[in-house]
Amino acid sequence: MRPTRAVIDLDALRHNLQVTRRVAPYSKVLAVIKADAYGHGAVVCAEALGPRTDGFGVATLDEALELRTAGVRHPVVLMAGFFEADELPTLSEQRLDPVIHSPWQVEQLLEASIEAPVRVWLKLDTGMHRLGLTADEFRTAYARLRQAPQVEDVVLMTHFADADETSNRETAAQFERFQQTTSGLEGAQSLANSAAILAWPETHGDWTRPGMMLYGWSPLDRPTPACDELQPVMRLESSVIALHRLEAGETVGYGSRYLCSRPTLIGVVALGYGDGYPRTAPDGTPVLVNDRRCTVAGTVSMDFITVDLTGAEETRVGDPVELWGPSLSANEVATHCGTIAYELLTRVSSRVPRHYVERDERDEENSLSPHG
Ligand SMILES: *Cc1c(COP(=O)(O)O)cnc(C)c1O
Repeated sequence: MRPTRAVIDLDALRHNLQVTRRVAPYSKVLAVIKADAYGHGAVVCAEALGPRTDGFGVATLDEALELRTAGVRHPVVLMAGFFEADELPTLSEQRLDPVIHSPWQVEQLLEASIEAPVRVWLKLDTGMHRLGLTADEFRTAYARLRQAPQVEDVVLMTHFADADETSNRETAAQFERFQQTTSGLEGAQSLANSAAILAWPETHGDWTRPGMMLYGWSPLDRPTPACDELQPVMRLESSVIALHRLEAGETVGYGSRYLCSRPTLIGVVALGYGDGYPRTAPDGTPVLVNDRRCTVAGTVSMDFITVDLTGAEETRVGDPVELWGPSLSANEVATHCGTIAYELLTRVSSRVPRHYVERDERDEENSLSPHG
């Protein structure tokens, strides 16, 4: 069997949710599991988090329906709302809460005939200029939606552009604009993504929206005590399937990019960009072989990478490789590749089997719920 797989530690996922709760103890948690839970598997993650979370955030209607089909009954928020009015009856039937970010959505919702009213998450653009209403549009929409028969409840929300930069003053400025525009308006408030949960406690509000921190990686530009408690959930692993002893002057891989400057042991690992490992990984990108730090050597190909095993010369065919996980930071790999851990995780392709692990939880479950 091909040794490449993503091992998903569901205990770590639950632990990270506990960290979220401890950092923001007065907020409900909307666990963000869009894009197949950042590559970890949305349904399994939803079931693992279910008893301890208050709702889930997804990007698309298909993602939401996948959860409902699997029997998830929590509130589910569509982070981009609906894309066309014909989705509204399904939202109403399936109790899916749309984010309302644009005036056209307000109009379509107010014209819709739906059976049951929906809870809307009304989004204010406080400076990111991606999705969200202007302050004037927001207050007008709020007044109309509050009276509309199609609307059960209005949650007030915004999203931060720079919360990962712990010295950037824009987050405070966005927060200030949010407070000004929502002052006097009733409704729960939701502002904080992972970075804001970790670095900007004044923004926690009634509902936090953690994504990345649940998967165990901090988005912040500097460590904090809570960041250090996060446990990576995914370990992307494979193994060495071939070895080559090369002489000084020989080259490795497509484009002969890697030139051995001395006699070098090269290992071939059974994973490539077809599995979602970034083709942009330059020579020097860290790879753990037998828990030793080695480096990418040569262009990443579709099904393989090649690794310089200098310092790990005892390596044998079959030895384990970690591409990122508990022993190798996805943030560090991402930095080498000119991207962020979000993209690395989300791009792990469907070709990579997800292997779920958790300790036997029966004892804990029993003590938590006497009727369980
Ligand atoms: C994706 C997303 C989040 C989660 O962001 P993280 O940085 O992963 O915590 C929160 N809110 C919105 C609106 C999002 O789109």
